[in-house]
Formats: sequence, C-alpha cells, structure tokens
Amino acid sequence: MQLRRHKDIIAIKNGANAPVAFHARNLEVASVSEEVWASMAPTTFDNGFVMNMLSSEKGVNAEAYSSLEGWDLENSSSVATRNFGSSVTSITLNVTQLCNLHCTYCAAGGDGTYGDPVTKITVEKTLPQIEFFLNKLGGNSSFTITFLGGEPLLYPDALKAIADHAKTVGAAKGIKTNFNVITNGTLINDKCLEILTSIQANITVSIDGPPENQDKARPQKNGEGSSKAALAGLEKLLSRQSDLGKILIHAVFSKKNLEVEKAYRFFSEFPVNAFEFTFDITEADPSANSIFMNEMARVAELAYSRGGEAELRKISLFDGYFNALDEQQRTENHCGSGKSLLSIDSNNKIFACPLDVGQKNNQVGLAQDIDSDKLAELQSPLIEKNNCQTCWARYLCGGGCMFVHKTLTGNKHRKHISFCERTRYLISLTVLYYEHSRGLKG
Ligand code: SF4
Ligand code: SF4
Repeated sequence: MQLRRHKDIIAIKNGANAPVAFHARNLEVASVSEEVWASMAPTTFDNGFVMNMLSSEKGVNAEAYSSLEGWDLENSSSVATRNFGSSVTSITLNVTQLCNLHCTYCAAGGDGTYGDPVTKITVEKTLPQIEFFLNKLGGNSSFTITFLGGEPLLYPDALKAIADHAKTVGAAKGIKTNFNVITNGTLINDKCLEILTSIQANITVSIDGPPENQDKARPQKNGEGSSKAALAGLEKLLSRQSDLGKILIHAVFSKKNLEVEKAYRFFSEFPVNAFEFTFDITEADPSANSIFMNEMARVAELAYSRGGEAELRKISLFDGYFNALDEQQRTENHCGSGKSLLSIDSNNKIFACPLDVGQKNNQVGLAQDIDSDKLAELQSPLIEKNNCQTCWARYLCGGGCMFVHKTLTGNKHRKHISFCERTRYLISLTVLYYEHSRGLKG
C-alpha cells in the first residue's frame, strides 16, 4: 500500500487499483482520480504530520488540487464526536488474581497475579461496590461487567453471585446489565456452563491459533500445552451457543507467533460470532510489526473473498472501524479508561485500566471511595493528551492505548511509532475495503 496526504485528507493506493481517499475529520471515504493522487504529497505509515504539495509543484493538476483544497475545508454536519458521558457504565472485575496457565506474554504481571496473588475476591465486599456504581446511573442506561482474572473461571461462584446481584439491582432501577467473561477456556465444565448460560454471558476465549502455536504461547504452569483443554472448552461453549451471548475468539500475536492467517484458517472451523486479533502490547520489534500488518492484510483478503463485508466484519477490528464510518462517529478516546470504564482488582481497589492493577500510583479508589481529583485528570480527550492532533487517523484511533504507550515508551501519553504505524496501516486497509464494499466514488 502507498500513502499520500493533502492536509486532512489521506489517499491510499493498492497495486493498480484506483486510489481511495479518506477525510480525517469528516470520516468520509471515496475513490479518487489519478490526477488527485498525483497532486498529493507522498507519505508513509510512520508519519503523522500534516503534509501537502504546493500548487506550483511539478506533477500537480490544478483542477484536482483545487478539489482537494475545497474538500479539506468542508466540515460535515452529519459527523458527531462520541461522548463517553460522565458516568461509569462499564467495569472490569478480577474475581481472582491467579491463573492456571503461564502465557509467554502475560500482561497481568507475567502470571495472572499482577504481582499480588489473590485466590478469591470477597463477594460480600464486592456486592455493595457494584451497587454503588449502579446507583449512580439513571433508568434506561446500561451497565457492563467484564469478569477477568487471572482466570475468572477459577472462581465461577463469584461470577454468579455478583452478576445475579447486579441484575436484581439493575432491574429495579430500569438499568440493563450485560456480562462479559474473558477466559482461557481450559476450565469450562458443566457447572461453569450453567453459570455462564444463566447470565447469558458474552464469552471471549483466548486461543492463539492451532495447537502447535497455542501450546508454545500459552503453556500450562507445568509446561504442558493448553490447546486440548482450551479447544474442548470452546466446543462445550459452542454446544450451548444459543443460551449464551456472543462467543469470540481472541488471539495475541508476538515475535514468537506471527501466523495470523494460519490462526484465522484454523478458527474459521468454529462457528463463533467474531475473531479478535491483537499484537502483543510489549512488542515493538519493527520486523514483527511489519509481518503482523502483512498477515492482517492477507487475512482481510481471505475473509473478504470468502464472504464479503459480513465475513470481514467478523474480525472485530474491521467491524469497529466500519461501524464508526457508517455511524459517522468520531472518537477522541481510544477507550473509556477513567471516563466510562473503571477496573476493580481482587482486593476491591479501583484503577482506570485493567492493566494498571497492582500499580499503587495508578489506584483511583477503593471499595466505594473514588479519588475524584485523580479521575478529573483523566477526563480530557486522549487525542489531545497524546498530541495526536496532526495524525490523519486520530478520529478512528482515539489516541491509542495508554497501556501500550506506557509499556513501550515509559509514558502513557507518549506514543511509540510501532503502534501508530500499525494502527494507520490497519485503518488504511479498512478504508480500502469500506470503499470496495460501498462503491463510493469521489
Ligand atoms: S496514537 Fe493513534 S491517533 Fe495518536 S498519532 Fe498514533 S495512530 Fe495517530
Ligand atoms: S488503556 Fe489500553 S489496556 Fe487500558 S483500558 Fe484502554 S485500551 Fe484497554
């Protein structure tokens, strides 16, 4: 893919296909002429600075240049900026800080404990904490609890007790409650299945590919592979799919395993609702980054050839960007961390991001006490805090994941070039497929 830029418009060209342009502020996509392409300044995926050709430069077409100038100045009235509001509508909850696996890239302290192993959350302390958040919401709102660990299914009774309580309190106030469980899938037995179906949980099963890849990346604590148990768990979940929410497979790729296409082909055998492919948050190796991007391009091509837009959008990354383009929703925040989202650890300490757990300086509350000064610092838009104002991808990326930034640069508001390059590449890929799906002519 080649890239060109004219102020807030980017254009992408893939092989001999017509170039496709994207208006960064207006979230508009359209194919453009070769004259327009030739009148834009060449740039690269690792460059987020504003660029443009001068109208007097060689190769610039006067009419095309003038149309670019006009389009760049337009401000669409149909685009809106997504507002996270002032309420916490989503929490993550570590019902345990222990794990039965020992994944090679574990972001939870390397072993699921965040440096502070806790076998079981105290349910009696957690119920009033959940109620505290529900009491802050008005009727007709919704509240989502994502159960995490360690491995949350080491303590399924907590899931049931907390979800049931949230449902009861929520129903009395007219609040819709939703439950997500993120699990390694290895502990799904009949009891877990009964609990998960009773709360109609959306389940994310973390599997990194076919057995040979999964066993290397996600061994058990005794060093043996986890694929057999994880795949048996997935099959068990699928046997009750109609009684559950969505079932999603999440795979993490790093220098040790970059076979995204192979994983996608393997996962396609399972009738899950969606696939999520992410890059190890601690990985900044340029060649691994580049292989991941190319693999994602191959996966997109394969998915699109198999089932067009619907199949492509089973991959959650593409679906998210398609939604934002369809709904004309700009985002100024990569996630709701500290705004609409808070994270509770197994000691009922509160943090802004699930991966902040265990870092005392990042604690923003305990039980029913919230440090409003600390939260106030997190309210301004991330694209401002992270200095993303000149990046053409800003309103789809939203300033990036603060935890990735901190891991790679030491500062949660300083981006690492590998993250930005990958994000811009994947957004460009989406823009090409979006134009292709909708046949948008400039
Ligand atoms: S973090 Fe996202 S919005 Fe910010 S410069 Fe990087 S790609 Fe652009
Ligand atoms: S900062 Fe990153 S890891 Fe934390 S909640 Fe946001 S996206 Fe998730």
